[in-house]
Order: sequence, then structure tokens, then C-alpha cells
Amino acid sequence: MRVLVEVCVDDVAGALAAEVGGADRVELCADLGRGGTTPSAGMVRAVLAAVTRVGVQVMVRPRGGDFAYSRAELDVMLADVAHLRAAAAGARVPVGVVTGVLTTDGSLDVAAMRRLVEAAAPLPVTAHKAVDETPDLERTYDALRDLGVVRVLTSGGAATAAEGATTLARLVERSRAGGPAVLAGGAVRPGTVAALVAGTGVGEVHLRAQAPSDRGDGTLDTDVDVVRALVAAVGRPAPTPRAAPAPDAWAVLAVDAGGTAFKASLVDDRGRVVVRRDARSGDSGEASYRHLADLLLALRREATDRGLVVLGAGVATPGMVDEPAGVVRYASTLRWSDLPLGPRLADELGLPVAVGHDVRSAGLAESLFGAAAGEGDAVLVSIGTGVAASILTGGHAVTGAQTTAGELGHIPVVEDGEPCTCGQRGCLEVYCSGAGLARRYAAAGGLPGLDAAAVVARLDEDPVAAGVWDDAVRALAQGLATVTLLLDPRVVVLTGGFSRAGDRLLEPLRTRLAGLLAWRDAPPVRLSPLGTEAGRIGAAVLGLRAAGRDDVVERWRVADLLG
Ligand SMILES: [Zn+2]
Repeated sequence: MRVLVEVCVDDVAGALAAEVGGADRVELCADLGRGGTTPSAGMVRAVLAAVTRVGVQVMVRPRGGDFAYSRAELDVMLADVAHLRAAAAGARVPVGVVTGVLTTDGSLDVAAMRRLVEAAAPLPVTAHKAVDETPDLERTYDALRDLGVVRVLTSGGAATAAEGATTLARLVERSRAGGPAVLAGGAVRPGTVAALVAGTGVGEVHLRAQAPSDRGDGTLDTDVDVVRALVAAVGRPAPTPRAAPAPDAWAVLAVDAGGTAFKASLVDDRGRVVVRRDARSGDSGEASYRHLADLLLALRREATDRGLVVLGAGVATPGMVDEPAGVVRYASTLRWSDLPLGPRLADELGLPVAVGHDVRSAGLAESLFGAAAGEGDAVLVSIGTGVAASILTGGHAVTGAQTTAGELGHIPVVEDGEPCTCGQRGCLEVYCSGAGLARRYAAAGGLPGLDAAAVVARLDEDPVAAGVWDDAVRALAQGLATVTLLLDPRVVVLTGGFSRAGDRLLEPLRTRLAGLLAWRDAPPVRLSPLGTEAGRIGAAVLGLRAAGRDDVVERWRVADLLG
């Protein structure tokens, strides 16, 4: 008989140690020292992202102490179960719920257990050692069978599994007649497990496999050698040795999607780019999706080869993006329309995936690490082929009712002005964008075939260039005056190809903006220090947030991000 081994763990390193040591499942808890309570949402997602083979049973227990819960505590448990069901969607490994509720007189709370089992479906439910405190364990077992519980963790009603062996054997008999599997736990150790299995016929064992941590502070860590010893003691061949990834060997996938290409990076736990890979967009929306998914799958293989565990992925994309749903409503150049990009990638990669709007993602990076760092009210203006803004107000990114807030490029700045590709007239980006500047310079009789950068390079000697540049600065100042009066930002940050004009842009812009504002000062206008990396950095932050690891972002430094 093949005996299954389950190890209870309370962190990612423990789950990986259990996997490397040959265990079949982990039971994930917080606070093992108090018998295990519900782990955080971030911990659940991180463990599900890290393991590749072991099943993950997640403890749902709102506190230490007894198992008779108030109505409010039961509501917390039901909410945790709902979260867990969502986190388990797309997981690469089997996921289940471990829980137990007793009434105040110490018997099984059948009504509460039924609600938990129903809330968890389709995830299977294991009843934990609370059942050992019920007065008649065999009756409790039968009630759990009727509730549809798939497994019972028990020490046979005694303090240890060895002392409860007689009852365990009777429960194993019951399970053979068609009942929940019996998982023996309670002081199970490598030296005693063989006798326990032989004496009870139990097919699954559960243990803590901890040893004093390297921190030397009296805390415990899951020890891969204890796991190996237990697996060997139940007569299982030792797994092929492979190095356990260090707990800080984590990475995320970050994609900055442009109109014609996907720029993807593998970003390590310090925010450094480990590998960059690009792919072109396709001839159809589906082909573009395929190129992107294949690019991410290839990057994840490279991560594995380097011993890095990928926690999640973030994708910054142009167009109209429903960020909470991960759906690209419309992106013309990528030919995407109502594409559930986040859910599809999450399904294919088996990772949490977040999707963000490209300029808002760049604005996120700017507000964390760039020229707007620490400011809750800031506007990032990206001026490239077109113009778009990311608006941060009171610390919140403004998306708007139709997700199109920030279309600064299509604010009319010249009444009855030149036509825009959007159908309006006199839009800001008609005058102030890479495409607009080059087009207007040629139309005004300038040298043929120059792009915006070449036009800027001729400002000192070419009156046609100086004229269209002056129009561009005037249009941008008009737009920024509106932004300033409407939003009162602490700082305006410029990025995109146009901002490479540097002082040729900044100095006349500041003068014009100040001249348009009579009763208040203009906010400072700065160039982005992150430049074209902002989209990638924002996407990496989205990926980490999807994995529930905001704490990692707080440790990132600009020098590493751009290094
Ligand atoms: Zn327009």
C-alpha cells in the first residue's frame, strides 16, 4: 500500500521543502505554534504559484482556542472559503479546504459544517482534529460522511495517533465501506510511522516536519530532511534530489505591449531585469494573443532553468482596459475586442495575472519610483505617436466610467482647428505629438521625410521647424492649464519620445503654462526619470500585486529597476 504523506507548513519555503522532500500534500496554515489558523490571502496565492506537484490543503480556522465559533466568526470563515475558491481557480495542483466547527457542548456543528462544505464546492473539504474532541468519534465520522467531507484528520480521539490506534483502525474499517479517507495525525514521527501504519491500516499520515530555524531565534522552519525521513519510513523511494529554490529566488513576468510588439521581461525579487524577450503582434487578435502567451511560456521556462519561481505576471496594454476584470475592451492596433486577456493567460500559465492600461501602468511606476514618488496627486503625460495621461488623485488612479479617463490628446485646444484621426477638430495631439509634429512640418513646407526628432534638431536654423514647435508647446500648455485647473496636481511628469526634447520642451512650456494661469502658480513640470522603462516597471508591480506580494514592491529601489 502506498501511504500518502501530508506535511503542515506555514510559509512558501516550507511548502517547497515538503515538495522537494517527496510529500504528497501540504496543509497550509498560519501560526503553526498555536495549532494553525487561516493563512493570509497573499500566502495562499504565493504558495499556489510556487509549488508544482504537491496538493495544497488550506486551513480555515479564524483563531486559536476552541472550535465553537460565533455567527460573526462563521461569516469570516465563509468569506475565507469564497476567497480560497477564487484563488484555486487555475491552480496547477489540487486544492482543498481544511476546517472544523463544534457546538458549545462539544459535538459536531452539523449546520455550520454543511454551510462550509456547500460554500467550498467544488473544492473538497477535510475535517480537522476538532473532531477528536467530540464525545463519539465514530458517530461524528458518520455525520461527516453524510455531509460529503472527503477526509478526516484525526488521532483517534486520543492525544497522539499512536495512543488512538485502536479507534483509528475502526475508522479505517468504516472508510473502506465508503466513507471519508482517514488521515492520521498527532505526534507522527519518522521513527513511529511504520508501526502506526501497520497497526491501523491507515493510508494517509500527517505531520509537522519542523526543526529550529537558521535565524537562531527559537522559531521553527519546515525541514526537508525530516520530510525525506518520513517518506522513506513509509517505504517510499526517495525522490530524485533537486535543489529547493531559495525563498528569495522569486520573479515576475512583466509585459509592455505596444501597437506592434510585446516587450517582455523576467524581473527578479529586487526589480532587476534578468532576461528581456520581444515578440511581434500578429495579423489578427487571436494571433497577437498567441504570440504573447508563447512569449510568456518561454520566459517562464527560462526562469525555471535559472532556478527562479515565477509568482505572477503583469501586462500593460494600450486601448480600453477593464482592469478589475482583466478584459481588454478594445485595442485597435492589436485587434483586440472584449478579450479576457487576464483570465486566459492565468489559465494557460497557471499564474495570477493582472492586466493594466499602458499609460496608467507607467503612471503607477512613476508614482512609486519616479518623478511623482510619494505624491497622491500627480499627472503623467505620455507624448509619443499620440498623447495620453495617467491621473492620480488622492492616491487613486482615475479610470472613468468607460475606462477612458486621461485621453488628454483629444482635448480640443484650437477651436475649429485641424482635423484629428478621432473625428474631432483641433485636438491637442494634432499639434503636439510625434506624428502631428512631423505631419505639420511637412505640410508647412519643411524638408520632406523628417520625423519629430529630426524636426526638433533643426529648431535653431529652420523657421518652419520653430513655427510648428511653437504651436506644439502652445497646445500642450493649453491642455496642461486645463488639467491644472481641473485637478490641481502636485506635479506633472512628461514621458514618451517627445519628452526627449528636454529643455527645448520644458523651458518654453513652463513659461507658457505660467502665462495661462493668472491667479495660481503652475505645478512643477518634470521629465520622467524612468522613461521608456516605466511601462515595464508598472507591469512588474501589477504582477506582484496579482501574486499578493505588495511587500516586495516596497523594497525595490530605482537603481535596481533601471540597472
Ligand atoms: Zn482627437
